[in-house]
Formats: sequence, C-alpha cells, structure tokens
Amino acid sequence: MTEDLLTSNMAWVAGRYEDSEFFKRTAAERQTDYLWLGCADSRLTGQELTGLPPGAIFHHTNPGNLAPPLDVGFLSSLQFSLEVLKVRHVVVCGHYGCGVMAAALSNTPIDLLDRWLGPVRALASRHAEALETIMDPGARANRLCELNVTAQLVNLAGNPLVQDAWRRGQSLTLHGWIHSAADGLLRDLETTITSLKQAMSFVGGPVPEAPLRRNARRGSS
Ligand SMILES: [Zn+2]
Repeated sequence: MTEDLLTSNMAWVAGRYEDSEFFKRTAAERQTDYLWLGCADSRLTGQELTGLPPGAIFHHTNPGNLAPPLDVGFLSSLQFSLEVLKVRHVVVCGHYGCGVMAAALSNTPIDLLDRWLGPVRALASRHAEALETIMDPGARANRLCELNVTAQLVNLAGNPLVQDAWRRGQSLTLHGWIHSAADGLLRDLETTITSLKQAMSFVGGPVPEAPLRRNARRGSS
C-alpha cells in the first residue's frame, strides 16, 4: 500500500515539472507570517484553504486543534513560530464534522485519547445545557467545534509566550476560524485578539505590570 504512495509521489513530481519554476519557488526563502493550528483529521490544510504558497504558513496539527498550556509539542511550535519565524498571525482553525469533537461528546472510553480530550469534555460539560437543546448529534458536535475554537483562543491569549510577544512590541493577532470540508469556506468566529490588553480582557484577568518571563535574548527589545 505504501508502494502506491511512492508511485503517486513520482507522478506528482513529474506533474510539477510542467511548471518549470515550481520547485525553485517552493525551495526559495520566504517570510512565514502565519502559525496555523489545525485539527489532525481535517481534510483541508491551511495552505489548501487559503491558496498561500508553500512556506507562508507554519502548520501545527493535533487531534481537535487544541492549544494546551502544558503540551511540549504545541508549545515548541508556538515558541518557534513566535520567536524564530516571528509570525504576525496565529490562526486556530477548527472544522465542522470533526471526529475528535464527536468523540469528546461520546461516553466511549478511548484510553490515552481520553486524557487528551479531558479539556474538551470539560468544555462540553460547561456548555451542557445549551448543547443538549441541539437534538441532532452532528449539529451538537459542530457547535462544540465552534466553542472549542474559542476555548483555544482563551488558552492562547493567556499563554506567556504569546503575551511576551506583545510585550516585546511584536505585531501579533490571534484569530478563531472554522471551516467545512463541504464548501471549503473559512468562517471568522469573531474572536480576534490584537493586543495584551485585549487578551487579558478576553481571559478575564488583570494586565500584569511586568513581563512574566525575562531572558537575555529578549532583554534588548
Ligand atoms: Zn477534527
């Protein structure tokens, strides 16, 4: 079966050579302005949805497009994109029809995934009253997809790496979007955050007087 992938890769490469500049453009240095946090089971990537060229988006995916405050993999992607690539936008992009959100709403044990889904189940529990008024299971899961995007914006707004970027004077905007594989359209959930002040208002805490963390690398900026 994987032989098929290697064969189709050869066909794909051959097809790309019809555009003599394709690989030259792909390999060229490019400013990366976007960190895209997407779901691992989404059928469409940020690059496909936006049509941006390769390299314009730094993708991080995981089950349910989560921004966990203590997940080393996610935090590494966040720190790299903010401090090395100096992205100007972080997009949390959920998708309707997400199997991970449907799993979070079910009571079926899924071993290790249950730990990962704990925060999503807690979110569903906080909104149980509203979710239970939605009779159709798919529509209910889709509403949780939207709520989850906003919850991840809260996580990002309260993240010290994100807050430090604003304190350094870095231009940074957080976006909460969602799309459907059925039409490919991105929908803005209107949770855009552009400043530390707005972020602290969003997470419900006071704006700290001093940076949460300092180091020599950031001291000069
Ligand atoms: Zn998903």
